[in-house]
Formats: sequence, C-alpha cells, structure tokens
Amino acid sequence: MQATQNVSHKEIARFDKLAARWWDPDGESRPLHDLNPVRLDYVAKRVALRDARVADVGCGGGLLSEALARAGADVVGIDMGLKVIEIARLHLHESNVQVDYRKQSSAELAAAEPASFDAVCCMELIEHVPDPAALVHDLAVMLKPGAPLFMSTLNRTPASFGAAIIGAEYIAGLLPRGTHHYAQFLKPSELARLFRQEGLELEDISGLGYNPITRKAWLGRITAVNYLVCARKPA
Ligand code: SAH
Repeated sequence: MQATQNVSHKEIARFDKLAARWWDPDGESRPLHDLNPVRLDYVAKRVALRDARVADVGCGGGLLSEALARAGADVVGIDMGLKVIEIARLHLHESNVQVDYRKQSSAELAAAEPASFDAVCCMELIEHVPDPAALVHDLAVMLKPGAPLFMSTLNRTPASFGAAIIGAEYIAGLLPRGTHHYAQFLKPSELARLFRQEGLELEDISGLGYNPITRKAWLGRITAVNYLVCARKPA
C-alpha cells in the first residue's frame, strides 16, 4: 500500500497534528499564510483561473485551494491527511467558497481523472513524499494537454539548510522540529529532470523569498532556499 500510494505515514501524522491550527496566521502554518498571496499571483499570471478546473495536490488545510476558488477556479483539493482535509472542509463554512476536498492520493486522482485539469498545483509537498518521480508522473497525468503545472519546494543548499531547518525549526521555533528532511530537498535541476522524464516543458523557475521577521514574501532570482516552478504539458 505504502509504495503504491507514495505516502510516508510519519509525514502525514506530523501534518495532521497541526491541522487544528492550520488557519491561525500566527500558528505553525504562518510561513504558508505569508507565502500564499505570492503563490496565487504566480499562478494567476500564467493561467486564467475563472472557471478553470484546478487540482491542488497536498492541499493541507486549504490555504491555496481557497485562494484559487476565490479567484473563480473550480478546485479539487486532495491530501492524505484526514485531519487536514476535515479542517479544510470546516473552513469552507467561514469563507463561503466551494472546494471539492478529498482524502485521496495523487495516484488515485490521476487514475480517476486523467487529462482533466486546466492547471495542477503542488506546493511544498514533493519534499515530503518517498518517491518524487512518481508524484511528478501523477501530476503530469492529471494535466490536460497544454495545461501548466505549478510546484514549489525547498532547494538543497547550505542556505536552505540554514533557513528552513536551523533557522525555522531550531532558532525561531517557527516550524516544529523534524518538519523538513534536508536529504529530501530537491535542486531545480533535479526537478527539471523529473519534468523531462514526463515530457513536461519547463517554463519558469523563480525564487520565493521570505523574511520571517517582517513576514514579507516576494518573487526573485534567488532560488537557493524556496522556489516556484511552472512546467507545461505539450498541447
Ligand atoms: N500545499 C499546501 C500544504 C503544504 S504542507 C500549502 O502549501 O499550503 C504538506 C501537505 O502535504 C500536508 O498537508 C501533508 O498532509 C501533505 N502530504 C504529505 N505527504 C503526502 C502524500 N504522500 N500525499 C498527499 N499529501 C501528502
């Protein structure tokens, strides 16, 4: 089961523990809250969201799913954490948007709805799965021909080790210790290789800057810590 689902149950349990506080902008998901407007902007600049069918894979409590839905997209949000999916569903009562949240694996959604999405988002997930290549495969299957895939993740550099693990987990206490595993961080070139293997065309790599003190996030050229990519399935 574990191999076909491409899930680390330890990872899921870690995020489920945070579920109740997911929508607290000052809780453990605080960096995700702060990054969210920049991520939405990046996506919205590259795909017309109104009435687009969008998959948000590893949606967590639904920060990006809701933002996409508010921009007019018809969103399916999937995650393997039952508690985070419950929190995501509960939050819809407060936000008055619609999202189809499912506890489902990327493999299951890809098998159920191949070539069905006008865009696929997968933010801050690939560094938590046992088999990154299998995840990219599933995401590629979901895309309609010509549709973009958006991903964000942490680069594997001394800077990201310093910022995401030492800084965020040990010094600032911003994230629980053990949230990230350095060996699972992916270099842009490694992600690009996974895209090539699936026949996806890399369109953009942008650095995602973040200052946890001012809580400002921005797009830039520096990809050493966190970065966003856009790749496209050929039409
Ligand atoms: N994409 C969201 C949440 C990122 S946190 C955002 O950026 O706002 C990572 C999420 O991935 C958690 O909700 C966790 O439950 C989920 N996750 C971890 N491993 C997973 C897997 N193998 N399949 C699906 N979701 C997974």
